[in-house]
Amino acid sequence: MRTEPQKFVLLDRDGVINRVKDGGYVTSWNDFEFLPGSLPGLRLLAQNGCAVLVVSNQACVGKGLLSAKELRSITQRFVAEVVAFGGRIRAVYYCPHRAEAGCACRKPRAGLLRRAQLEHGFHFEETFVVGDSAGDVEAARLVGSPAVLVSSEADTEQSASSSGVKIVRSLYEAAEFIAATKLDRLPTFAGQGTCVNG
Ligand SMILES: [Mg+2]
Ligand SMILES: [Zn+2]
Repeated sequence: MRTEPQKFVLLDRDGVINRVKDGGYVTSWNDFEFLPGSLPGLRLLAQNGCAVLVVSNQACVGKGLLSAKELRSITQRFVAEVVAFGGRIRAVYYCPHRAEAGCACRKPRAGLLRRAQLEHGFHFEETFVVGDSAGDVEAARLVGSPAVLVSSEADTEQSASSSGVKIVRSLYEAAEFIAATKLDRLPTFAGQGTCVNG
């Protein structure tokens, strides 16, 4: 029995679900390596009734290193593995543009998060944004969402208090935190309680 509304979780991809390749992009399925804890973390989110959306910058498409079709193929394969493990991903959003293109959707801008919000109707202030970079945290701050930063090297105790962002070591730890957090008791990680719109 669930007595609170469904939680939405917006996940970055590289560095959260799969390992960031040394100095490069994931341009083939061979490059896609699930990080420790990411498949169990996605399963835990599904078991807790969370709706998971992936929101990811993939400038490799704009740079011509990967076609949109190849990106779709990689996406289908990783989503299938997630499902086989007991997880669920409701939708995947990519910004394919290069940084120099100045688009509105590339994080740290909030365009892609807003598109996901329009299509799925969640409330940003009750939606967790999970990423591994400052750009993910900035995008979360722009929309007023609580941010969770996955950092394998972080001193989690110290960083959490100084930055106001929940720091975890893996997507599994992020999922544990999200599952344990009541929506009406959300700490104000991002924006100190101010919802920034526009
Ligand atoms: Mg990342
Ligand atoms: Zn873009």
